[in-house]
Amino acid sequence: MRKFILAAVAALFASQAPAQAPPPPKLLVVISVDQFSADLFDEYRPRFTGGLARLASGTVFRDGYQSHAATETCPGHSTILTGDRPARTGIVANAWIDQSAQRADKTIYCAEDPQAPGSSSKAYKVSASQLRVPTLGELMKARWPQSRNVAVAGKDRAAVMMSGHRADQRWYWDGKKFTTDLSAAPVPASIAAINAATAREIAAPAPPLNPTAFCAAKAQPIPIEGHAPVGAGAFARAAGDRDAFEASPEFDGAILGTAAALVREMRLGQGSAPDVLSIGLSATDYVGHSYGTEGQEMCLQLLSLDWDIGDFLKFLDSTGVDYAVALTADHGGQDIPERLRLHGVPDAQRVDSALAASAVGKAIGMKLRLDGSLLFGDVSGDIYVNRELSPADRARVIAEALRIYRAHPQVAAVFTNDELARTPLPRTPPDKWSLIERARASFDPQRSGDFVVLLKEHVTPIGHATRSVATHGSPWDYDRRVPILFWRPGFHGRVVETPAETVDIMPTLAALVELPLAAGSVDGHCLDGTPAFCQAR
Ligand SMILES: [Zn+2]
Repeated sequence: MRKFILAAVAALFASQAPAQAPPPPKLLVVISVDQFSADLFDEYRPRFTGGLARLASGTVFRDGYQSHAATETCPGHSTILTGDRPARTGIVANAWIDQSAQRADKTIYCAEDPQAPGSSSKAYKVSASQLRVPTLGELMKARWPQSRNVAVAGKDRAAVMMSGHRADQRWYWDGKKFTTDLSAAPVPASIAAINAATAREIAAPAPPLNPTAFCAAKAQPIPIEGHAPVGAGAFARAAGDRDAFEASPEFDGAILGTAAALVREMRLGQGSAPDVLSIGLSATDYVGHSYGTEGQEMCLQLLSLDWDIGDFLKFLDSTGVDYAVALTADHGGQDIPERLRLHGVPDAQRVDSALAASAVGKAIGMKLRLDGSLLFGDVSGDIYVNRELSPADRARVIAEALRIYRAHPQVAAVFTNDELARTPLPRTPPDKWSLIERARASFDPQRSGDFVVLLKEHVTPIGHATRSVATHGSPWDYDRRVPILFWRPGFHGRVVETPAETVDIMPTLAALVELPLAAGSVDGHCLDGTPAFCQAR
């Protein structure tokens, strides 16, 4: 009898094929949800039932980090598919000041070609020329010439930073239509149809969305000085209102529709080499800026986004392509200080307008009896000293500026270019970094300011009565922490509590498609516990 059971068991094992890892996927889909903080992901995760629920059933890094201090769109997007922090990508901000630029406008936009005739930071020629490192899509094309590198986004800088210098198709919204900077690439036929459909959508008024009970419970109008109250909106839109379209769930629907059209028309994932499709979903950022992050508006936005991503994934399923998805964000965000104070954050406040670089420069000029503009920059972040000053005056101006900023009750720290240049790049987990280490990770000696001003936690760096009521850009974790999700059909899920960085996404996806990377060639490292095989198989 015993012998019989043993034989039966042996036969059973012999009849089963040995378990084998699946081959690499044919399409990598990388989604960046602009301003999708880890705080928002945690808050809404139990409410997701669509695409975000499906992706959250994969590997979830709850403590993902855009680890650097300059938590803006362009630096954040530059980390996701390069594997490098902004100190290495060179994308230290959305825009920086180059006083040696041979043009009247000394501000350089991160995704422009400043050498192009007539380009300025406001009317720019879109280009990846400021990005100092290659993207995953570029490296895949270098190894497999048949590989396609495609990007679709609401913002040009998101599409440019995720696809880089060699893209096959790159489409982004210019305020009126989806457009491209790749003038040599053939225009897919679907673009005209998408643009016509989107124009028709905008031309018609949009009725308010019908909030679920969960979102309706968040509908509390919050007064803001010099601004209409926010918190109880539902995206009713007047005919032709393009700004309202961009700050609504409709916008992400149009971006995902464009991405789906390109997948179908280009037959992405059906060639001889793996393809990469980057998608920048920008509406969450515009909703956050326009209404804050904790009202009915953000609730409706995130639940709509969940359904729209769900529809997009169902579309991908229908193509039969073997695909894998990574989802993250370019930065987090913080709610409006007016609502934060009601919700138990008593030190939430708006920045003192006296901190504006121009105002501080004026005060220094009066004290030191110097004429002209002395400082350039915003209320925080990189501040530049007028390079036409004599070395002696320059030293006096910097000393006085440091004294003024450091004495201000809203300022957490000020670091000079020299101090940052002397600081080693951090090597510890990103949740352990000091403020100077966070600033170091988005520091470039040529592009960064003469000093960087970091505001205290919960100080919103925009004053009253601007169009934006909330923002990001600080070195604090509400702006740094973002979800990092990996999903592939058939892979079981897990939640990882160990901190990870967005620079880890690129080496993880490279391992997934078996693209070798030279040791130490990127800042990030392959994340175990994902569908990727971090040790070469
Ligand atoms: Zn933003």
